[in-house]
Parts: sequence; C-alpha cells; structure tokens
Amino acid sequence: MSVISAADELHAVPGIPAREVGPLVAAGLVTVADLLNWLPRRYEDRRRFDAFPAQAGGPPVCLRARVLDCGKRFGPHIRFFEAVVADASGGVFGSNRITCRWFNMPYIGNFLAAGHEVILYGKPKESKGRIVIDHPEFEIVRDDGGPSIHLERIVPIYRNVSGIPQRRLRELIHHVLEDCDGKSLRAEYDVQPEVVRYDSFRVVHFPGDLATAQAARRRFALEEFFALQLNVVWRRMRYSERTGRILGTRTTLLKRFYESLPFDLTGAQKRSIREIVGDMRLPRPMNRLLQGDVGSGKTFVAMAAMLLAVDSGCQAALMAPTQILAEQHYLTFRRWLEPLGVRLALRTGAREESNHLEIEGGAQIVIGTHALLYETGAFHDLGLVVIDEQHKFGVAQRGRLIGQGAVPDVLVMTATPIPRTLTMTIYGDLDVSVLDEKPAGRGKIVTGVRAGAKQTDITKFLKDQIAEGRQAYLVYPLVEESETLKAESVTEAFPKWQKRLSGREVGLLHGKLAPEEKDAVMRRFREGEISALVATSVIEVGVDVPNASVMIIHHAERFGLAQLHQLRGRIGRGMHKSYCVLLSDGKNPEAMEKLAVMERTADGFEIAEADLRFRGPGDVLGTAQSGMADIRFAEFLADTHLLRQARELADAVIREDPLLEGSYANLRHMIGEHDGSVVRA
Ligand code: ADP
Ligand code: MG
Repeated sequence: MSVISAADELHAVPGIPAREVGPLVAAGLVTVADLLNWLPRRYEDRRRFDAFPAQAGGPPVCLRARVLDCGKRFGPHIRFFEAVVADASGGVFGSNRITCRWFNMPYIGNFLAAGHEVILYGKPKESKGRIVIDHPEFEIVRDDGGPSIHLERIVPIYRNVSGIPQRRLRELIHHVLEDCDGKSLRAEYDVQPEVVRYDSFRVVHFPGDLATAQAARRRFALEEFFALQLNVVWRRMRYSERTGRILGTRTTLLKRFYESLPFDLTGAQKRSIREIVGDMRLPRPMNRLLQGDVGSGKTFVAMAAMLLAVDSGCQAALMAPTQILAEQHYLTFRRWLEPLGVRLALRTGAREESNHLEIEGGAQIVIGTHALLYETGAFHDLGLVVIDEQHKFGVAQRGRLIGQGAVPDVLVMTATPIPRTLTMTIYGDLDVSVLDEKPAGRGKIVTGVRAGAKQTDITKFLKDQIAEGRQAYLVYPLVEESETLKAESVTEAFPKWQKRLSGREVGLLHGKLAPEEKDAVMRRFREGEISALVATSVIEVGVDVPNASVMIIHHAERFGLAQLHQLRGRIGRGMHKSYCVLLSDGKNPEAMEKLAVMERTADGFEIAEADLRFRGPGDVLGTAQSGMADIRFAEFLADTHLLRQARELADAVIREDPLLEGSYANLRHMIGEHDGSVVRA
C-alpha cells in the first residue's frame, strides 16, 4: 500500500499511468482531492436490471444486454450507428430485442461489436414499430474474474472525462479510495473523529445502498450551500457596515402623492412602503428586494420610496432593463408625479428628455436604462437607486453601483417570482418585501392550451374581441425566419395578420427595430390606435396597456414557463375579462405538460417551482449567477432544509468570527455537527 495525501498530484500516485494523467488534468482533475470530489451524477443498481421495455415512454431504463448485430446505417438523409441487442439479464437471452442508435457518432463502431455484453442506460421510445433507445449511455461488460467494482453492486456513473472511459474513471477513484493507504487520507479529512468526511467519500462513490448514497450526497450538498451562504452573509455584513444617509423623515410629498391616487394602496403595498421607510431612516444603506408578481403594483411602491428621497433633498434614479420599459416608466412617473411638481428626466442610450419643470438644481428623479449606472457625473447627489427587473442584471453590477463613494439606498424590484430557496441564494444579502396581494378590480384571465387550433377560429375570435373594443398581443418566438428552428417569425406573420384582420390596424414590434420605431409603435398601441400587436417577447417585461385583454402565443412550447408567465402578465390589467391562448403543435408530451401548468395556475411562485423542475437552476437563472455555476450536488427544490441549515451555520460562523480568521477545519467541524445526515461507515 502506498501512502498518499489529498494534495498529491495524480501523476505522483502509484497505479495511475502517465497517459491517463493528461486527460484527467485537462478536465480539472489535478490532485487526489479533485478526483474524490468528482462525485457521481447518478447510480446504477447493477444487482438487478430493468426488464426490457415492451413499450415507449416512461423513465430511463438500465438494461443488461448482448449485442446481436451492429453496424453503420444509411438513410436517405441521415446516417447513424445501430446496434440490435437482446436481453442478457437472466444469464440466458430473452426473446426481447431493442435497437440502439447513435447519430453522428460513427466511432461507436470502434468499440462495439456483435457478441459484446453491455449495460445500457436510456429512454425507450418508438420508431417505425420498434422500440429504440437513441444515444444510450453504455458500458461494455468485461469479465476479468474476481469481485468487480462494475457489476453486482450499486455503481457510480460520473460526468464524462474526455479520454477516460467511464469504467476506467470508476477504477481510478476506487483505486485512490481503497488501494492506497486509506489511513493517511482519513487522517487528513477527518479533522475531528465525528467528522467522517473520508467515509462520506467512500459511501458516495461506492454505496452499499441508495439511501446511504443520498445521505452522503446531502452532506456534500450542505458544504456547497454553506460556501454560497458564507459568501452571501459576508456581503451582507460588509454592506451594512457602510455608512448611509438618513432619508425619509420628511413625508410632505408622500402624503400629497397618497391623496392624489384614485385608488387605495393594497395592504401589501402599504406594508412594503413601511418596511422601506424603516430602512431609509437608518444611518446605514438600505439593501432591499421588492418581490411581487406582475401587476402587483411595484411601480407605486417605488414611486413612494423615490418621493421620500426627493423630499429629503436628494436625487433618486430608476433603472430599467430595456428602453421600452424605461420610456414607459417615464410616462407613468410623469402622469403621477408631475402634478406634485417633481422634476423628472429620461435618460437612455437613445434619448434624453425632461418634463421641463426644470432645471434649476437639475432633475430630482432620473429614469433610464442600466447604462445609466456607469455614467460618471450623471448625478450630483444620488440618495436612492431603484433597480427594476434585477434578474436580467446580476449581483456583480449591483456591487459596482455600491462601490461608488457614498452609498445610496438600493431597492431592487423583481417580477420574477423565484422559489424561496433561490431567493435565499441569489438575493440572500438583501432584506425582502413581498407584494403578495393583487390590486382589486382586475378582470379574470382565462388560459387555454390549444394544439392544432384552426386559424379561422383564432381570427374570428380576435375580430370579435376587437369589435368589442379590446386589443390583442400576437406573440411569436422569432424575429426572422430561421433555418434551424421550425417556427414562424414575426416578420413572416405580420403581413398575414394584416390580411386576416384587414380594416383593423396591426402593429409590429421586435427587438431589432430602431428605438424610435419601437417607441412609435408602443405609443400607438397604448393610445388604442393599433388593435393587434404582432410581437416577440420584447413585450415580456413591464408593458402596461390595461385595454389589451387578449394574448395569443404561437409556438408556445418554445417559451419557458417563467417567460410565459411574464408574457401573460401583460393582460388582465384592466377590468375586462382576458384571454390567453397558448398554441402548440402538441407533438411533444413534455412540452404539453409544461403548458398545462399555465392552464392550471396563475400563481407565480408555483409556476417558478415548476419551471425549476423542468429546467434546473442553471437555466432558470442564467449562467454564473452568484456561484450557481459551482453547484453540483445540491438539488434546489429537494434540499431546502439543507439551505436553511447552511444559512444558520454561515450566520453563526460570521457572528463568532467576523473576519473569518478561524481555520477551514473548524468550519468543517461545524458542518459535521449540524448535518443530521452525516454518514458513519
Ligand atoms: P408591477 O410593476 O408590479 O407589474 P404596476 O405597478 O405597473 O405593477 O401596476 C400594475 C397596474 O395596477 C397599473 O395599471 C397600476 O396603475 C395599477 N395599480 C397599482 N396599484 C394599484 C392599487 N393599489 N389599486 C388599483 N390599481 C393599482
Ligand atoms: Mg413593473
């Protein structure tokens, strides 16, 4: 047995040949510790295999099979590698056959031959009356005598390392854990006797049963969450140490604003404003998130906060993610705040405008796009920044704002209802106010999914609605015709709708139009001149036209759930009953399941959780969102309790050791104490 250490580089570990070190290092596996941390992404229980599927659909299956015949196949348009396999799970051949296909992977033929015994993993489907599995994961069974780490046990399946077959990777990890002198590694990992990290590694790689494997995975998940939360809690503490200014003690403007509103604020709006006022009056900077579904009235809460800043004699800024939205906010603000004598300015990349109540002393409220953030000298005395739709924006940018000299109060608004676990991660450094109540007097939204609906029916429905004075959005996924995506674009659809709805005004809106064109179209739609707006998802955020009560979304399956929810939020804003129709070819069952969520619920949080289930956190949040890219073991929906534990731990650590001078070993020790799922071998 050779003595190895976690920090040893793999080329120095006996039993790992030099030709394998290259590919390992290329995948980031440099040390023994790196190899141990390459945790399985799933397991196969090879003590018993699934039965050969007799029909398509259902979850993936794990089969033991023998290759009867294989080779390259050529169709009129495609070529692929095909293997016909028979059931080999019972020791004798079953009579069932399955066909495996690999497209554009002719090199499969270099490994696979008739007579091979294989373990296959993949989803069965049907093609021309046969059961097929496309691109199954597979491993060739080799009987090298003696007990195997590849068979008759629960076997780890790793993310691929290019150049190292799955089987070999498993052997390498097993080698490091078991063949080398485990005592030395154990001593390094198990800082305290009760922190059995070494055993967690053993169990997570080569578990005796799946429940223990899960427990060990949770342990590593907790470590991941802990690292994230430590970061978040640290940022939060640093921010709260900065000096802010005391704002919001004068409320003259705010009172006049309340009196001028034709409606009462909702309870949730009032509560949020109280929370914001509380923050603003403290001598440290506000750092608050205002979370509320589309149409919950965030803009009015923002206006109240901004008026408080103005009344204290400083400037307030509102940053919107798009030009359309900035313009619209500007109009809304003018409408409500001009009568109060507030000096307003609009500043986007393309336009500068003010309401001419100017200009002695400059604008009190500046509205613009995010580019505004980086302009130096845009403000002489910025007291409050409101950031709309933060998820398009990112923590780093927020940090940049905060880095500029005296720290303004910050209010982040998001209309994306994200599951609470994610809020704690991405916005974990912010205090949170939630608008969980909709203003009264909203019309109902009826949502329907229609597969293969008749065009004439849709057109007739639209004509009827327009005749009643309503307006409609006709949404498409693409701006222009695409060779790769089989979906209609706005550019193709626009002339067709002009014909179908002849005599009524049809508008076209997408992101590639010049800013002035976009403006003009939006203005005409807002003023009711345009009856039907053919648009891409540029209308997704913030557009507010209460008379628009119909939305027809074409190729709805191409949009994510969160996006569909945002789109639907554009209707149901007035008192009229609204209709959202989701059109789809209905060919993909998973997509139909997704769309059915929209039919079932209008609750943004529920939709967000479903979205997370369908797509996973990486896609929901975009890349590199505050360390999310590093999450490998944690499952965001299933591991909520671990995230809570991690937050408590991080709070405790920072309380006890604000400069984080304590050793990493101590932190690990705390994890060991708190994780109820620590595995003891
Ligand atoms: P959000 O920004 O959260 O999507 P907005 O602030 O744009 O929502 O408000 C949506 C619509 O509801 C606007 O037309 C606004 O005038 C109206 N509104 C906001 N608050 C109230 C309220 N308390 N009562 C009635 N209508 C309201
Ligand atoms: Mg809004």
